[in-house]
Parts: sequence; structure tokens; C-alpha cells
Amino acid sequence: MVADLRISGAQIASGPAPDGEPGVDLDATGWRVLPSAVEPHAHLDKALTAPRIPADTGNDLGAAIAQWRALVADIDGADIAERALVAVRRYAANGITTIRTHVDVPTTGDPARGVEALVELRERLRGRVTLQVCMLAGHQTPDSVLADVAARGVDVIGGCPHIASDPRAETSRMLDLAERLGLPVDLHADEQTGLPPSDAGLDIVDLAEQVLARGLQQRVTASHCVRLGMLPPDRLARVLDVAARAGLGIVTLPITNLYLQGRDATHAAPRGIAAVRQILDAGIPLAAGGDNLRDPFNPAGRADPFETTSLLMTAAHLRPLEALAAVTTGARTVLGLPPAGTAPGAVADLVLVPDVDLGDVLAGAVGARVVVSAGRVVADTRVARALDLPNPATPDLAPQPLTDVR
Ligand SMILES: [Zn+2]
Repeated sequence: MVADLRISGAQIASGPAPDGEPGVDLDATGWRVLPSAVEPHAHLDKALTAPRIPADTGNDLGAAIAQWRALVADIDGADIAERALVAVRRYAANGITTIRTHVDVPTTGDPARGVEALVELRERLRGRVTLQVCMLAGHQTPDSVLADVAARGVDVIGGCPHIASDPRAETSRMLDLAERLGLPVDLHADEQTGLPPSDAGLDIVDLAEQVLARGLQQRVTASHCVRLGMLPPDRLARVLDVAARAGLGIVTLPITNLYLQGRDATHAAPRGIAAVRQILDAGIPLAAGGDNLRDPFNPAGRADPFETTSLLMTAAHLRPLEALAAVTTGARTVLGLPPAGTAPGAVADLVLVPDVDLGDVLAGAVGARVVVSAGRVVADTRVARALDLPNPATPDLAPQPLTDVR
């Protein structure tokens, strides 16, 4: 569909612009407008540390955690802030205008240095990229330290009950803290492929039951949920029923879990991806992202929502538009963000891509992008390409520039 789009302030406006309204008229012929993407689960404090570990590393989750703990002792706030900014620039250039980043509370050195660096970066980027800072509480860190670090301005309370000795008690501790502070919750959950003998041993069931008992529906997210992909249909249906009643949102993170999980399998290795088809069928909000970006947990990653959509289609068997929704509208729902896109009243967070087949975009084949955040162009990437080959009749992946035609 070809249409005029008017942006007023940070929102899409309806109708023609009033006479004399200042602004520019952009001719976007050859471009397609999509809602911008959301990265629902990043670790900006760890991003881009891959060059500091041996190149031939092949980590499972436990090995990655151990390697990160050895690295973090020598990492200060300035180091975190610098790498996080480099990573945010990559995410934004690729069409992501909101990032929820988890951030460790290190057990060596100043426990608040990661949160402080990212809260400061959040303020620096305000109006251009939205950062949600989620404190990733370690199970060995005392309540008093967590309360002090959270008070530095975090947006979300997170934690890792699945690696605690008593996951149920750790989930309870995180919910207590979040309730005291009035903040939403986003826990790493079931990030392993082995199954407990009963549903009660699943982090997500435990979390859902505690959320229901406390009346915290719609405020809690479970990230990873790899084990859901391992459950037989009858068990999975029961688990998703309680998760839906608790109003949980689920975040799936294909690239990092494909890297970390299944390493001990001698054959028929599991994929390490939540049961996304059944999650959607159960009416549970689904977000998808990349998780780690070039660090001990994932040496690869392009900070690109269309890398995630490509993996959702190939490795998780979502249909193209379902994959797109998981990185846009679904992710906004899970993170509690207002709708973005082209409808009047929507937030003007947009990504313009070449007007080629949408499948080419979702497959990650398209480099050129113009990214609009809150009505303002924050990134503009063109691809210069010289080919000594015949020209096709249909336009390829490099549209003409946007020009002010007023
Ligand atoms: Zn994570």
C-alpha cells in the first residue's frame, strides 16, 4: 500500500498537516515502512567481550558463566559504558529503537558499577533509543546489596532462579523485591534442556503460581524457557495454561540458546528454543531477541532483528509474519510499551527498508535501513554496491535516497 504518513512530535498524526506547520516532506518512494523493532533481552554489560576470551571456546551455559565471572573482575563502569554504546549503535542502525538490557550485580568490586553505567547511558540516549535497565540479581548477593543497587534507578527486577540452589525461594525473593519497589519482573527461567520429574520443578510453573498467589498478573516476564521446547504435548499444555492465567509474557532467544544448549548430546541435539508455536496458540504474548552479542555466551550475533526473524522461521518454524510480530508488536506487548507503527496515534518508531519482497527483509538479506525513533531519524544506512553483472528488471535491494521534496 502507498500512503502519506504525517509525524507530529513523537506520534503518527491523522489528516493533512495544518498550514504553516514546520517540518519536512520526505519522498520515500522505493521504501517500505515497518514498526521499528525491539530487543527484549540484551546483556549490554557483557556485549562485545568475545575478543577477550580464547577464540576456540565452545561454551555451554555453565562454562560461559564461569568465563564471564573471570572477566568481570577486571571490568569497570567506563568499560561497560563504552561497549554498551557501541552495541546500542549497532542495534539502532539495524532498526531497534527499544532495548531491555539485563545487567549483572558483580560479586567482586563495586556491585553497582554495571547498573550505574547503563542507567547513565539510558539518560544519555533518551529520546533517541529507549533503554530499559533490568537488574540481573545473582542468587548469592544479599538482599541489602540488591536493594541498594536497585535504588540507583533500575526499571525492571531480574534474576536467575534456575541456577540457584533453591529456585523457588529465589523466585520468591525476586518477587518480594519487585513488589517492594513497585517494578515489573523479568526472570531468566528454564534455561536448560533437562526436564524435572514433575511440572512443579519447572521455573515457569513456579513463577506463574507465585504470580497468581500475589496478584501480579501482567507484570512478569519469563525469558529463555528452553525447557518448554522439550516438554511432551500434554505436559506443555498444562504448563502454558498456568502461564497464561498468570499473564506471563515469554521471551525466546534463538541465537544464544542454539549456541549454548545441546552440547552434551551425542546425536539428535535439541534446538534449545521455547515451544513458540504452542505459546502463540495459548494466547501468551511472545517476544524474540538475540540475548548475548559477541561475548562468552554467544560469540556470534549481528544485533539485528532480522537475524532473529530468520532464525524463528528456520529453527522455530514460525511463519514470516509471526516472526516479524515477535520482534515488533509482540515484543512491545511483553515489555509494556505503547503500540508503534503507522496508525494515527501510534508512537512514530519506524524502520524503513527497501520495498522488496518482505521475505527478503525477514531473511536478513537487506542492508539499507532508515530508522525513526519518536519521530526523529536516528540511523540511516545505505549500501553501496558495484556489480559487474546484468541489471534485473525488478528493483533490487538498494532504493533511492529519501529526499526532501518540499
Ligand atoms: Zn539473558
